[in-house]
Amino acid sequence: MNFVPARIGDAVTEIDTPALIVDLDAFERNMKKMAAFADLAGIRLRPHAKTHRCAAIALKQIQMGAVGQCCQKVGEAEALVQGGVRDIFVSNEVLDIRKLRRLAALAKSTTISLCFDALEQVDAASKAAQEFDVELGALVEIDLGMRRCGVVPGDAAAALAKYIEAAPGLKFLGLQAYQGKAQHVREYADREKAIEAAATAVRLSIDAIKREGLRCQVITGGGTGTYMFEGLSRLWTELQCGSYIFMDGEYSAIEGSDGEPYAEFEQSLFILTTVMSTAVSGRAIVDAGLKSYTLEKGLPAVHSHNDMRLVAASDEHGVIALDGGVVLPLGTTIKLAPSHCDPTVNLHDFYICVRNGRVEALWPISARGASS
Ligand code: PLP
Ligand code: MN
Repeated sequence: MNFVPARIGDAVTEIDTPALIVDLDAFERNMKKMAAFADLAGIRLRPHAKTHRCAAIALKQIQMGAVGQCCQKVGEAEALVQGGVRDIFVSNEVLDIRKLRRLAALAKSTTISLCFDALEQVDAASKAAQEFDVELGALVEIDLGMRRCGVVPGDAAAALAKYIEAAPGLKFLGLQAYQGKAQHVREYADREKAIEAAATAVRLSIDAIKREGLRCQVITGGGTGTYMFEGLSRLWTELQCGSYIFMDGEYSAIEGSDGEPYAEFEQSLFILTTVMSTAVSGRAIVDAGLKSYTLEKGLPAVHSHNDMRLVAASDEHGVIALDGGVVLPLGTTIKLAPSHCDPTVNLHDFYICVRNGRVEALWPISARGASS
């Protein structure tokens, strides 16, 4: 067991830093808001566990009405099943027979489905399912312009659906239709247009699949930046948003429907860090560097201090530039708001959950590092 930087009941000031903290009030408001939207829109919510990698959070989402969880990786699915989740969609392609056997083993106790964009994946998954005498749900992924995974919408999707339907141990369910490129498009109207274009590609694929005599029972997609469009489309049947529970700096750069910064959800995930050196003038050095947050979407923001900026990070140091006259004494704790929550979470063992200045819960990040 790794070092635990806090105990339940501790004051926030007693948390050893750097630490990954969750503002429980904001987190719960985010969870409720998305659950209420899905309920009102009449769409199933299957939140993405790539964001939290935590069985405790998955169970809370399910308790609030989610139908199950999405995972990106088999290792994530294993951790969630161990934590009690009983319906998992791997929103990704899996080719390796060893991984497919692990998934098939999970399917003994859990409803499991996954994505396909090639015949080879179908052959391998069918083999694993037969070995374990289970059925795996199968979705054809269509490429909606992200150019990552997925077949060309239309006839190619229908051909793959037909191949899947003929494969023993697999049941064709429908389409993985996730438009990842649209999530962080700045303007609301441009995001809406991107999802309208995606809807055209989805319809084309549904029709082609129908001509093969098959029905798409599931159309899944959507993320935190576009969920309102898929959610109200009457075409998608499931949402797979992840980041809405924590939000990240990246999402604050996009606009909401009113042209103002996107404020549907609140930042609820922070790195708590302490000023450990002020020896160099005009700077405060904190004890959280790039081993506590990731940088691919930019440096974290200093939360609730507009006059301070984190300007550089090395492995275990963060450099805060202080504008003229501002002082940040040694030992001060501050909160950093990560620019990208999903990979930041993967650097930590626990969520330290805080409310009213006290540690209320510690949730292990049970799928930390589970990328195989
Ligand atoms: N679905 C898939 C396939 C994804 O890759 C992602 C995130 O990258 C999501 C859903 C969730 O998106 P978000 O975290 O923006 O809600
Ligand atoms: Mn992400």
